[in-house]
Amino acid sequence: MGLIVQKFGGSSVANAERVMNVAKIVTDTYKQGNDVVVVVSAQGDTTDDLIAKAKEINTNATKREMDMLLASGEQISIALLAMAIQSLGFPVISLLGWQAGFSTNSVYSAARIKKVNTDRLKMELGNKKIVVVAGFQGLNDKEDITTLGRGGSDTSAVAIACALQADKCQIFTDVDGVYTADPRKVKNAKKLSEITYDEMLELATLGAQVLNNRSVEMAKKYNIALEVISSLNPIPGTIVKEVAKMEKMLVRGVTKDTDVARISIVGLTDVPGIAFKIFSKLAANNINVDIILQSVGRNNTKDIAFTVSKDNAPVAIEALRALPFVDEDLPIECDTDVAKVSVVGAGMETHPGTAS
Ligand code: ASP
Ligand code: MG
Repeated sequence: MGLIVQKFGGSSVANAERVMNVAKIVTDTYKQGNDVVVVVSAQGDTTDDLIAKAKEINTNATKREMDMLLASGEQISIALLAMAIQSLGFPVISLLGWQAGFSTNSVYSAARIKKVNTDRLKMELGNKKIVVVAGFQGLNDKEDITTLGRGGSDTSAVAIACALQADKCQIFTDVDGVYTADPRKVKNAKKLSEITYDEMLELATLGAQVLNNRSVEMAKKYNIALEVISSLNPIPGTIVKEVAKMEKMLVRGVTKDTDVARISIVGLTDVPGIAFKIFSKLAANNINVDIILQSVGRNNTKDIAFTVSKDNAPVAIEALRALPFVDEDLPIECDTDVAKVSVVGAGMETHPGTAS
């Protein structure tokens, strides 16, 4: 018995049947004598559909109006889930982000939570209500609606768990935990029973889709253990916490990123400082360089290769061409048919490499 925060993502509340399924999970938890706060995302592809609707009208709409629109997705979910819980005969109340006390800064579409005022939440819990809160949203100093950025409901859930000092924060999703690789793509991917915040953060930052990385950062900072579990398959999930059992495994996970272009300059004159000049030039053009490879010099020349995101490749090549020591006929190759594969390990460094 205690206070439990349960978060359900878009796929877990995608239709009436799934909403009823969530109502069942939530009320089972409540029946066991727990106080329950539920955070939900917009149903299925609702957020994408709303973005598409906005684009039909104005591709340049202000972020304030985008937030006003996108926050409506979660409003639908909380009302429907509250109705489902009512139909099972339990006391419940739905709250928008601002009603649940979420204050944020004013960066529309990527707002940061400043504070969660828990008065209302505590009052409703005190009245023995199941509280259903809209994820992904808050209110800024001007009392305008803001959203936290895509996937932000995870962060809403962790913020409530921190503010209420919850005993547990469960993140329900359509996979049954954190795997060593994407289980939809890799058949023998293994589920981890535990993983550390840092490892999870690396996996999330490198492209694993299970948890939003800001939510993991916040959980780490306030030491809130997160449990990633399936809303469809009632088996134990993965616990994300400070220290994890090793399970005799060095490699914790593998992720891939296909938004990669590899640029190679072949046959550069091998003089000291040339690499520095190249990377300074790219930095001056705000190009983020990821993996860098330099060949050993031969016949006073050497090759330098590096990766950038695909949309940065044309600008990078243009910038290189503008360098005085890059002659017109010096070959610059650009290969977009590559991917970055990262291996995240316990006590190891991340070793990303590219493969064609
Ligand atoms: N509905 C929002 C999104 O699709 C927030 C979330 O799902 O966490 O990004
Ligand atoms: Mg969503």
